[in-house]
Amino acid sequence: MKAIEEYVRSIPDFPEPGIIFRDVTSILQDAEGLHLAIDLMQEKLKDVEFDVVVGPESRGFIFGVPIAYNLHKPFIPIRKKGKLPCETVSVEYELEYGTATIEMHKDAIKPGQRVVIIDDLIATGGTNEAMVKLIEGLGGKVVKTVFLMELAGLKGRDRLEGYDVDAVITYP
Ligand code: AMP
Repeated sequence: MKAIEEYVRSIPDFPEPGIIFRDVTSILQDAEGLHLAIDLMQEKLKDVEFDVVVGPESRGFIFGVPIAYNLHKPFIPIRKKGKLPCETVSVEYELEYGTATIEMHKDAIKPGQRVVIIDDLIATGGTNEAMVKLIEGLGGKVVKTVFLMELAGLKGRDRLEGYDVDAVITYP
């Protein structure tokens, strides 16, 4: 059996010079890779009590929905600005490359709900920090964040001090 790391394709200088892009499509296009990725991420939640899974567009959907489905929890999408049809809350933040605004439906999380965030990768931690702001702004409590990959050198974890942050694969 192949290790999960072996399914990740790394592309130098994409989308900008100096960035090594960690591609999840090479995992997803292999049935074993897809199973392994979901199973290993889900394993990180085995002792966690929570009410909802939150994941950001678009790679957070890929990993968040199967985990929510398997654990019989609801899934709340976080989307890029202008995509959600009902009343939203939004946050603007900086990315490793560029800036972005993310939104969530105002009625998606009820005060006191315990939230798990699922995403493909933590780089600078900016996206995660913004998601935490949205969730906490609605009264939710972030009990854990699970990433498939962590780029440890970018110190994203430092922005999430005090939160339970876990990753399946860690790159230096
Ligand atoms: P960040 O907010 O900096 O933690 O990164 C947010 C998102 O950008 C991640 O969830 C990835 O989808 C994407 N991303 C950032 N850096 C990379 C990278 N080197 N390879 C692949 N995806 C990346």
